[in-house]
Amino acid sequence: MDNLSNISVIKDVLARHNFTFSKALGQNFLVNPSVCPKIAEMGNAKKGFGIIEIGTGIGVLTNELAKRADKVVAIEIDDRLMPVLAETLAEYDNVKIINADVMETDLHKLIAEEFQGMDVAVCANLPYYITSPILMMLLEERLPIKSVTVMVQKEAGTRLCAPMGTRDMGAVTVAINYFSVPKLLFNVSRGSFMPSPNVDSCVVRFDIRDKTPEGVTDEKFFFKVARGAFSQRRKTLSNSVSSSMGIDKSIVNQAIEQSGLPASVRPEALSMEQFITFSEALRKLI
Ligand code: SAM
Repeated sequence: MDNLSNISVIKDVLARHNFTFSKALGQNFLVNPSVCPKIAEMGNAKKGFGIIEIGTGIGVLTNELAKRADKVVAIEIDDRLMPVLAETLAEYDNVKIINADVMETDLHKLIAEEFQGMDVAVCANLPYYITSPILMMLLEERLPIKSVTVMVQKEAGTRLCAPMGTRDMGAVTVAINYFSVPKLLFNVSRGSFMPSPNVDSCVVRFDIRDKTPEGVTDEKFFFKVARGAFSQRRKTLSNSVSSSMGIDKSIVNQAIEQSGLPASVRPEALSMEQFITFSEALRKLI
């Protein structure tokens, strides 16, 4: 449906299908016509690409993706939206809707079956109640994808895109920077959604690295150290890691020293290389 970004068309579609929004499913649909074309264009929706969309709503973004990419496979959990999508996406023969929970979908299998011979990217206006689990799943699964472009809460976007070694960073920043190069693309005001949420949003893109940084022997341990390091905000690396991981403080201090870091260093001061060096030193000591 070409004029789907028009608010009166959206209202009409929703009313005809007696659709009521589910807060629990994070249903805030985009009604600002300028946003979806930008997400699609900046999110690699173009010739040669297959796009995975997570959470279609009534298909506003799906429309823009389908116009530009070779194929779109969209995963939507709410079965009440299936008849709506059958109407709003009727003109496209390059869109497939899967009525499922993205967290329970085998994306490796989906990519192998649906996107042969294409590059693949993810584009989505994410349901905010599971932003982090979805992002971590997309990255940690090491899917053969080029980029992940998503709308997230503004605060989450700041944390996700914080450069390593800065105050805004957290454990998720370490994981994001390990697997990708993050970029904050643009802000979106709360008034661009229906119903309007009580936070502003932003669109971020993660360009997936061909190769993850060198030197990590055990990824699971590395991310455990990252989570431990940021488990208590404003504490030193030594205090956070020893208390959250239950490791003797003298051992953590030894690892800090061996990494050439000051004894009182705070986790948010570390670069990726320093995090890797510290985590490897700690791994060898325990
Ligand atoms: N893309 C649409 C838009 O921009 O208007 C809708 C975005 S809305 C923020 C999030 C969508 O994700 C909703 O349609 C919701 O039903 C769907 N959703 C929520 N949890 C999901 C899950 N676990 N798996 C797949 N879709 C989910």
